[in-house]
Amino acid sequence: MTGAVDFTELAVEGVRGLRPYQPGKPIDELARELGLNEADIVKLASNENPLGPSPKALDAIRNELADLTRYPDGAGFELKKALCEALDIRPEQITLGNGSSDILDFITRVFVNDGDEIVVSQHAFAIYGLVAKMVGANTIEVPARNFGHDLEAMASAVTEKTRIVFITNPNNPTGTWLTKTELVRFMDQVPQRVLVLLDEAYFEYVDEAEYPNGLRLLEQYPNLVVTRTFSKAYGLASLRVGYGVSSPEIADLLNRVRPPFNVDSFALAAAKATLTDTDYVSRSVAENNAGMKRLVEAFHALNLSHIPSVGNFVCFKVPTGVNAMDVYQGLLQRGVIVRPVANYEMPEYLRVSIGTSAENEVFVAALTAVLS
Ligand SMILES: *Cc1c(COP(=O)(O)O)cnc(C)c1O
Repeated sequence: MTGAVDFTELAVEGVRGLRPYQPGKPIDELARELGLNEADIVKLASNENPLGPSPKALDAIRNELADLTRYPDGAGFELKKALCEALDIRPEQITLGNGSSDILDFITRVFVNDGDEIVVSQHAFAIYGLVAKMVGANTIEVPARNFGHDLEAMASAVTEKTRIVFITNPNNPTGTWLTKTELVRFMDQVPQRVLVLLDEAYFEYVDEAEYPNGLRLLEQYPNLVVTRTFSKAYGLASLRVGYGVSSPEIADLLNRVRPPFNVDSFALAAAKATLTDTDYVSRSVAENNAGMKRLVEAFHALNLSHIPSVGNFVCFKVPTGVNAMDVYQGLLQRGVIVRPVANYEMPEYLRVSIGTSAENEVFVAALTAVLS
């Protein structure tokens, strides 16, 4: 059926120019394409926790099943209470999101007008530019330094039109990180009318003495908003739950645009259960450290350079003269899914998430075969 109306013309300008976020290739999609069993595929493409969910999360979900007919607690009382105890914050500071991506959308809709600017680093997470474009804002991308944020240059890029600066610590896809000294110096330079969104999606993985806890800077910087997620170290990517922490005033504004029941009861319960499962989180981090070591060792053995990463993923450079997309395809043919990062202005790199030790070995063997 073709109509006379061009609905694309009717869409708001920001949406017309939008290109959807490109996620990692799903396991079932590759299984269909190759005629393989899903069990034979290793997905190391979306920085998911390879250990599977915490058993406590599964118990919590089972406990919620009987209440499936009820709306979830729109205020997320129990999860907020657990977050407050775990993180030493107050409930009025929290905004719950359907994934922390939700918070990125809220903050942009609350504070950014058509024609305004946001500032991001080169090689930064793609969602920031997407949410800004949706509201008609321009994204100012500041060249990276050694693949990391150049905070001096980012502070200099702030203009009268800047509403939000997005900082990712550690950054995805590069795995680079900022010290407390660097971050504080930046916060001191930025005018208070400019919001700073500090995305700490990989906070739990970082074990560096100089790595800052953004939550401890909120008192001093009222323009700071910190986001965290249950999708990575907490192993709940499918449930979509994350949160923002800010001043109560900003949290109140963010909560005004939050859809009423944006986090479902399974997500609320599983997040609360995993938050207190410290054994699960420390096991996840320990496995990640061991896996990172193994992959870095393999890159050395294969003579590949990589970008040192403190996250649960690492970018490696394909050899000169080799096309990264050919390596990506070669790995797919062997049932291994990694992530191309050409759309992050890193066409010679591929990003691989750290898997279980068995998955890491499958990846190393497949990469060795593809490159030989
Ligand atoms: C994975 C990731 C997130 C988390 O997204 P969710 O919506 O919480 O699943 C946020 N920021 C960055 C940089 C990420 O890599």
